[in-house]
Amino acid sequence: MSELIIEGLEASAAGNPILRGLDLTIRSGEVHAVMGPNGAGKSTLSHVLLGKPGYEVTGGTVTLDGEDLLAMPTWQRAHAGIFLGMQYPTEVPGVSLQEMLGASFDAADKDTAALDEALLVEAARIGFDEKFLSRALNVDLSGGEKKRNETLQLGVLQPKIAILDELDSGLDVDALRMVSQRVEAATEETGLGVLVITHYNRLLTELKPDHVHVLAKGQIVASGDAALAAELEDTGYGAYGEVEAAVAEPATPFASGVLDVFE
Ligand code: ADP
Ligand code: MG
Repeated sequence: MSELIIEGLEASAAGNPILRGLDLTIRSGEVHAVMGPNGAGKSTLSHVLLGKPGYEVTGGTVTLDGEDLLAMPTWQRAHAGIFLGMQYPTEVPGVSLQEMLGASFDAADKDTAALDEALLVEAARIGFDEKFLSRALNVDLSGGEKKRNETLQLGVLQPKIAILDELDSGLDVDALRMVSQRVEAATEETGLGVLVITHYNRLLTELKPDHVHVLAKGQIVASGDAALAAELEDTGYGAYGEVEAAVAEPATPFASGVLDVFE
């Protein structure tokens, strides 16, 4: 049984406060969906949890099974069992998925003999073409293929807690079903705890959330069960404060190229 506890988390980027006292606890086997307007800080939360450079934690704590996650370098957080499925998966020319996962297995002292078999099994489970296993990681993959690629990594690495940022973006209906079923199965097979960021209730028909949260202006402002996700799709986020302020550009103007990466 694992527990990721986020308490009073505050973080800024380029001097602008983005997370403003965020509380969330995710336990093994639970699915937490985080929804919220653009610019609310959802991706920032995922970046801060994995220690992406460029973000400064200015308050609060994050622990995984009592260990201070924020004190660890990114590789150690991954080693401890945190997995991030990025909103925009990074392309890594020259390194294949197979090689990358082989290095992960080595680093974790896992038996690499089982890796090839696991890759084929996992690829079949989500309908991911085997030819991508030996090709450069994410290079020239479509948005949907990148998301399947991330899901395959999740299946093979078997983390304790997965943070999945817009897992549904770019997926067609069939891919969406396979990917969300795979993640849902992991909650039962390996007790995976999930924090999934999404704009669409559609994803949550297969990956069934135990808790749905609204993140607005850097805080969790409402929590409920799956009914909340359906309600949000109808009503939007207007009830949760000044949405305008949440989507406004930061006070300091940034070069558009920089902001694109963090949409
Ligand atoms: P969401 O994922 O909820 O749409 P983000 O977490 O990506 O929102 O962004 C929240 C706010 O923080 C936005 O206004 C965004 O422009 C800003 N932001 C995010 N990352 C950075 C960064 N590295 N530098 C400057 N501003 C950032
Ligand atoms: Mg985002």
